[in-house]
Amino acid sequence: MPQVNTWVYDFADGDKSKKDLLGGKGANLAEMSNLGLPVPPGFTITTEACRAYLKHGTEPDGLSDQVSDHLATLEGAMGRRLGDPDDPLLVSVRSGAAFSMPGMMETVLNIGLNDESVVGLARQSEDERFAMDSYRRLLQMFGSTVLDIEGEHFSDALDGAKDDKGVTDDLDLDVDDLRSLIETFKAIIKQHAGIDFPQDPREQMDRAIRAVFDSWNTDRAVLYRRQERIPEDLGTAVNIQAMVFGNRGMTSGSGVCFTRDPASGDQGVYGDYLQNAQGEDVVAGIRNTVSLADMREIDQSSHDELLEIMSTLERHYRDMCDIEFTVEQGKLWMLQTRVGKRTPEAAFRIAVHMVDEGLIDMDEALRRVSGEQLANLMFPRFDAKAAKDLLAVGMNASPGAAVGKAVFDWATAVEWSENGEDVILVRKETTPDDLHGMMVAKGVLTSRGGKTSHAAVVARGMGRTCVCGAEALDVDTRAGEFRVRGGKTIVEGDVISIDGSTGEVFDGEVPVVASHVVRHFEGTEVDHPVVEAVARLMEHADATRRMRVRTNADTADDAARARRFGAEGIGLCRTEHMFLGERRQLVENLIVAEGETGQEAALDELLPLQRQDFLKVFAAMDGLPVTIRLIDPPLHEFLPDITELSVAMAVADVRGHRKKRERKLLAAVQRMHESNPMLGLRGVRLGIVIPGLFTMQARAILEAAAECIRGGGRAEPEIMIPLVASVRELDLVKGRIEEVAREVEAELGQEVPHKIGTMIELPRAALTAGEIAGSAEFFSFGTNDLTQMTWGFSRDDVEASFFSTYLEQGVFPVSPFESLDLDGVGALVRRAVTAGREVNPDLHLGVCGEHGGDPASIHFFDEVGLDYVSCSPFRVPVARLEAGRAALS
Ligand code: PEP
Ligand code: MG
Repeated sequence: MPQVNTWVYDFADGDKSKKDLLGGKGANLAEMSNLGLPVPPGFTITTEACRAYLKHGTEPDGLSDQVSDHLATLEGAMGRRLGDPDDPLLVSVRSGAAFSMPGMMETVLNIGLNDESVVGLARQSEDERFAMDSYRRLLQMFGSTVLDIEGEHFSDALDGAKDDKGVTDDLDLDVDDLRSLIETFKAIIKQHAGIDFPQDPREQMDRAIRAVFDSWNTDRAVLYRRQERIPEDLGTAVNIQAMVFGNRGMTSGSGVCFTRDPASGDQGVYGDYLQNAQGEDVVAGIRNTVSLADMREIDQSSHDELLEIMSTLERHYRDMCDIEFTVEQGKLWMLQTRVGKRTPEAAFRIAVHMVDEGLIDMDEALRRVSGEQLANLMFPRFDAKAAKDLLAVGMNASPGAAVGKAVFDWATAVEWSENGEDVILVRKETTPDDLHGMMVAKGVLTSRGGKTSHAAVVARGMGRTCVCGAEALDVDTRAGEFRVRGGKTIVEGDVISIDGSTGEVFDGEVPVVASHVVRHFEGTEVDHPVVEAVARLMEHADATRRMRVRTNADTADDAARARRFGAEGIGLCRTEHMFLGERRQLVENLIVAEGETGQEAALDELLPLQRQDFLKVFAAMDGLPVTIRLIDPPLHEFLPDITELSVAMAVADVRGHRKKRERKLLAAVQRMHESNPMLGLRGVRLGIVIPGLFTMQARAILEAAAECIRGGGRAEPEIMIPLVASVRELDLVKGRIEEVAREVEAELGQEVPHKIGTMIELPRAALTAGEIAGSAEFFSFGTNDLTQMTWGFSRDDVEASFFSTYLEQGVFPVSPFESLDLDGVGALVRRAVTAGREVNPDLHLGVCGEHGGDPASIHFFDEVGLDYVSCSPFRVPVARLEAGRAALS
C-alpha cells in the first residue's frame, strides 16, 4: 500500500475516488485499468507533489527516485526501455487536475525519441515515415510547451514545407520532407531557446513533468479557474503513460466520443474518429473527422469493441462519459474517460433517461441537475449563430435577451411602448421614478450600479432583462444618446440588443429564441423533450423539499405569475411603489401638513387606495400567506429633488411669485435631507416618528383581509416591520398595530387573523434576536441590508466601483450580495435562528433578501432550518429545485 509522501501511484493503485490526489484523468485511468479495459500502462504523479513543487520552486525530495522506480516497472511491463536506441519505449506526459480544465494545461507526447532512438523506432515499426513524424511532433510540442517557444514558429515551418511541396495535408509529406523538417525544428529550438534539443530521454521526461507543474499557473489557467470558481491551490497531477500510436498508417487512428449526445441529451453514442492521427489532430481539427458509424465501415472490430466499452463505462459510472481513444494497427486503446460536460438541456434529459433505464433513482437524478442550469433554460436567448456587433460589456444583472429601441427616460418608454414599439430603457442608473418605464421596457441598461443596484433588483423582480454598470457607455439622458467610449454613438430610437446572461450590449437587432420551459411554467402545453424532463424533476423536488418557497411580489400580476411558477405565498410585498405616481402628491401633503388634522386628512386619502392595493394581492394569493412590509425607504425618496426645487424657488423669488406650497415643500425637503439616507429616517424609525403612516397601512391591510374573507376568500396577512434593531422599537410599533387590529375587529364585528413580525436586517437585530423573538411571531431575514450593514458596503455603489478588484484579489470568490457570505452574514443568521427559536419555539422563519433565490445560499438556509425562502417570481422554480436538492444533502 502506498504511504504518506508517496508522490507517485501506479495506475493499478488508484481508483476514481482519489480524484483530489490523482486528478480526474489519473483517477479515471486507474479506474479503467482496474475494470480490465485496454489502457496503456503508466503511473501518476500526485497533485500533492505539484503543490510542493509550486511552493518551493523545486521537486520535492524523493520524487525523482519514485519516478525512477515506477518507470522501471513500466519498462518491465512493456519489455522496452525509455528511449532505447534499438527499440524505444515512448511515453506521454499529460496534465490532469481534480477539476477538468480543458486545454488549459500542458501535454507532451512521444517523450523518449532522439536522433538514435528514432532509427530504432523506424526499424521496429518497419515504418520510417511514422518514426520521423513522431519525432517532429515531439520537437514541436516540447519546443512550444516545455521551452516556451511561440508555437507559430513550428506551424509556419510545417506549412512552409507543405507549400514548397504544393500539398495541403500533413499526410502528403514523405520521409525526406519530415527528415528535413526535423532539422528545421531543431534549428528553431536552438535559435529561440538557446539550447540544443535534449537528447537524454530522462531529461526530456523530467523537463516535461516540470512544464506540466508550471502550467498550473499560466495566465489562461488562472483566468479559467477564476471563471469556473475552481480553487487556486489544488495543483495538477501528471500522468506518464506508455505511448500508443494512432499515426501508424490507415489501420490506426484517434477519436473522441460521448456515450450520449452532450448537446441535446439524446440517447445513443456520439463521436468523431480520424484515421492515421494522434489525439491532438482530432481536437485541432486539421483534417475532417468521420462519425462513429463511418468508423464501423473502416474498422468494425475496433468499433464494436469501443461501443461495448462505452456501454461498460456508462453502466459503471452511471453517467454520461466522455472518452478519448486510439486505435494502433487495429488494436483499440482507451486513453481517457470522465463524466462528460453537458448543456443544461442535456443535463435534465440525461438525468431522467437514466432513471427510466434503471441506472439511477430520482434522488440521484435531482442531484445531477442544478438551479443554475434551470435558470439557463428559462431565459430567452440570442441565436448563437447570428452575427453580432458588440458595443460594450457590463454586469449580467438579470438574465435574458432583449431587443428594442433605445430610450432615455421613462415617459418616452411608456409612450413608445403604448404605440407598440419594443424599447430598452437606458439610464445612468435608475430610481423608483423609472419604475413605470422599466415595467414596459423589454430590457434595462445602465452605465452605473452593481447587481444589487435599484435597476438590477427591480429588473430581476420583474423578470426583466438587465445589464447594469456598463461603464464604457457615456449616457447623456438629456441629449437622448449614449456614446461608447472610443466608438459609436447610439441615439434615441436606434435599435440595440442586450444579453442579461453575459452583460453584452450589441448594436442593432440580434435574433432571439424563446424558452420552452417558461412557456410550460406559464401553463402552455409545450411539446419539447426538455420540458418533460424539467416537469418530472420539479415534481420530485417539490415532493422532497422541506422548505417552502414564497415570492417577493408587490403587485397582483407578479403574485399571479409567481403562483403559476409554484410560489406558496408572498414572503415580501414591498409597499413603497404604492406611493409613487399620482399618490406622490398625497405623501407631499402628509409631509407639509401642519398639525395632526392635516396629516390625518392626507392619510385618510391614502387609506382606501392602499386597501384596494392589498385586496388585489390577497385575491391573487388566495389561501396562501402574504407578508406585507410596512413602508421602508426614507420619505424624501417620494419628494421632489432638492436642487430642482431650490432652483424653482429662486426663479419664483426673482419673478415675485408666492408659491406657498412649494416653499413649504422646500423647507420640508431641506429639513429631511440626510447625508446617509440608508442609515437615516427609514423603516421602523418612520413608524415611530410618524406613527400615522404605519397605522394607516396596518388598517388598510386588516380591512382588506376582512373584505376578502367576507367575500369567501382566505386571506392570511403577516404584517412585517422593517429595519428593527431593538425589541423596544418593535414593541412600540406592534402595540399600535394591535390597537388598530382591535379597532378594526370591533368596527367590522369580525375576527381578522393576522401575524405581526419583523425583518432581521441589521446586525444588532441578529445579535439580540432572542429578545426580539419574544415580541415577534415571525422573522424574515433581509439579507440585502444585513450584508450591506455587516460589511459596511453601500449596496448601490460598491459592486460597480471596486468589487472587480476585490474579486481579482481574492477577498471573496463571489459578491456577497449575490451569494450569502456564510462566515460573516451567515453566522449572524445562524445565531439569530438559534436564539430566536430558543425563546419562541413557534417562531416562523424565512428569508426575503436576494439570496433567497441563490442556489448556494438556499442550501445554507435549509441547513440552518428556515421554514421558507422568498425570491423574485422568475426565480421561484430555481428555488423549488434547489430546496429539493438541499433536502437530499
Ligand atoms: C433586504 O434588505 O434584504 C430586503 C429584503 O429589503 P430591501 O431589499 O427592500 O431593503
Ligand atoms: Mg432591507
